[in-house]
Amino acid sequence: MNQWSRIIQALLPPVCALCAAPGDAGYDLCRACREALPWNHHACRRCALPLPAAGHGALCGECLRRSPPFARALAPFRYAPPLDHLLLGLKHHDRLDAARSLGGLMATWLEGRIDSAPELILPVPLHPARLRSRGFNQSRELARGIATRLRVPVGHPRCRRIRDTPPQAELNADDRRRNLRGAFEITGPLPPRVAIVDDVMTTGSTARELSRCLQRAGVEVVEVWVCARAGRA
Ligand SMILES: [Zn+2]
Ligand SMILES: [Zn+2]
Repeated sequence: MNQWSRIIQALLPPVCALCAAPGDAGYDLCRACREALPWNHHACRRCALPLPAAGHGALCGECLRRSPPFARALAPFRYAPPLDHLLLGLKHHDRLDAARSLGGLMATWLEGRIDSAPELILPVPLHPARLRSRGFNQSRELARGIATRLRVPVGHPRCRRIRDTPPQAELNADDRRRNLRGAFEITGPLPPRVAIVDDVMTTGSTARELSRCLQRAGVEVVEVWVCARAGRA
């Protein structure tokens, strides 16, 4: 995605990415498709895992057994059709219009759920080699809209991915954990409250590893904001 295509995409009038009807409220989604998205209505209050309606706001079994290293995860959507399709389009087909819509929807949803903004929004960093081949970081594209709305800086040059790990989607839960060990490096002081932003959370390995790194670097409160929460693989 070069700078020109980015500018042209931003100038085009919004069209629904799912049904091609005119977009609504500045989103590249029409109102009907937006309301029909798989909203994560009932979730674990700690890790945002989708739960049956009766379990809303409770802790999931995993969080009861072992507290995650982050204060809480928030996810407006479940990773289910057609949202999975939108996120895959963003990641693999340069559909930055999806980031514009989903980042905007995340921002509106988060505004109703956070008491005060963190001092920094940190998209999960990509390894420089991956960033070069993809041309953009999909988490950063989502984070951009949220950061603008909350007036918080986005990204931090001292937080880097130093190992180019195989894609998590190809691994099981144990391998995901091992795969990420030592993947991130933080070399400087960070503000006390940071929100990590990612596109999808499945087992939570990435969020946990990065949360631990941030805490070792002195961050006091880490929240994890993901667009979509999948069940555990
Ligand atoms: Zn539509
Ligand atoms: Zn949980």
